[in-house]
Amino acid sequence: MLNIVLFGPPGAGKGTQAQRMMDATGLPQVSTGDMLRAAVKAQSDVGLEAKNYMDAGALVPDQVIIDLIKDRMKEDDAKGGVMFDGFPRTVPQAEALAEIVDVSIVLAIDVPDERIVERICGRFSCGNCGAVYHDSFNPLPETGCTCGAFSEKRRADDTEQTVVARLDAYHQQTAPLADFYQASGLLHRIDGDRDIDLITADMLNALN
Ligand code: AMP
Repeated sequence: MLNIVLFGPPGAGKGTQAQRMMDATGLPQVSTGDMLRAAVKAQSDVGLEAKNYMDAGALVPDQVIIDLIKDRMKEDDAKGGVMFDGFPRTVPQAEALAEIVDVSIVLAIDVPDERIVERICGRFSCGNCGAVYHDSFNPLPETGCTCGAFSEKRRADDTEQTVVARLDAYHQQTAPLADFYQASGLLHRIDGDRDIDLITADMLNALN
């Protein structure tokens, strides 16, 4: 059973790579960001609590996230292993995760700070299938998305103001996790400032 953690700064390409790895491995993607956005949309208690943190580019409190993950991991499709995307983001979250499953490998996608803003500010996804695009680096083809749709969805927090706070949260609270996983021999670093296909190939190689 494989439990993969995709680790890296906002805009590193975790979501894009998770979709590709999902196709290649059959493992479901568990994205706390996606779960929180769904909760905000549904105006659930979790969504109402999380919204202000997300709008400010700050991390949502650990206990909210840990409870979400505990519930998610009880679902049938999680039993054969999952790919965590955007979780864990703090040492307490990683400690809580260790109580729930054995992490098999942590794939850390490295992208320098100066590349993050341009990557985040131009990105959007297909409103129909969720495929990820970028105004400059991966534009929507004239014929539309591969699923046939022409709908562009942009995240409310993908703005220049919020990116600075999100990067700050990453450096203060999330980056120290690299040491945590390095110490247990699970950390595998990948240069994320390259062609998307090369990154996917490296990630799949790392699993073998
Ligand atoms: P993401 O889609 O992973 O970039 O997450 C979007 C936002 O959701 C983040 O800026 C945080 O506010 C919140 N969030 C997502 N995952 C976590 C997490 N594991 N811990 C704390 N906050 C999170």
